[in-house]
This record gives sequence, structure tokens and C-alpha cells, in this order.
Amino acid sequence: MKELQSYAKQFQKEMNWEINEENYQLTKSSLLNNYMLLTTEVSEVAEELRKAFNQTHALVNQGMEEDEAFKIAKKDIKEDIGKEMADCLAYICKIANYFDIDLEESFYTKMDEVSKRKNKDIIVNNER
Ligand SMILES: [Mg+2]
Repeated sequence: MKELQSYAKQFQKEMNWEINEENYQLTKSSLLNNYMLLTTEVSEVAEELRKAFNQTHALVNQGMEEDEAFKIAKKDIKEDIGKEMADCLAYICKIANYFDIDLEESFYTKMDEVSKRKNKDIIVNNER
């Protein structure tokens, strides 16, 4: 992940796509613009899922078994959904780099928190 963040930082520098740090208003605008671009890319992941579900539905209507149809649709969107996830990752790295966040460290810390929270939820559910 460090390599990925380092690559993203260099790439953004070369493309002149860095978060503007000139002053508060420009930084705020740049961060909000990049956040908007990230959410657009997240939507594009959803669009690929929609394509797969629509293709599955069409194949089922042609008489194909549902699980088989979805296997085909899954294979058909694999490359494009991968590209959209890469776009998401690029914006996540960009925003993380701006805040000097080590995403690998944040990821494992957060997953640890989630695992403890999940265990807590199970205890709560068992008490009901
Ligand atoms: Mg995209």
C-alpha cells in the first residue's frame, strides 16, 4: 500500500493534479472537488454491478439458469469494474496523501476496530 500511495503521489505531481494547498479556500475547494470525483467513481462501480444484474436478467429471460447467467455477467464486467475500483483507489490515495495518512496502517487499525465492534454486536444480539 505504501508503494501504491507513493506511486499515486508521484503520478498526481506529474499530472499536476495535486490537492491545492495555496490557501484555505483553494484547499477546501480542491478537497471537495476530489471528494466529488471519488463519489462519482464509487457510482461507476455501482453502474458496473447494475450492468451485471441487467445482463443476468436478460440471460435468464432467454432461458439460462440464474447462477450460470450471473457467472457470465460477472466475467463480462470484471475488467471494467476493476478499472472503476482503481479510479476509487486513486482518489482515496490522493486524499490520504494530502493528510499524510498511511492507508495500510489505517486499514489494519480500522479492521481491528470493526472486528471488536462485531464481537460486541454478537454479544448484544445474544442478550436479546
Ligand atoms: Mg471511472
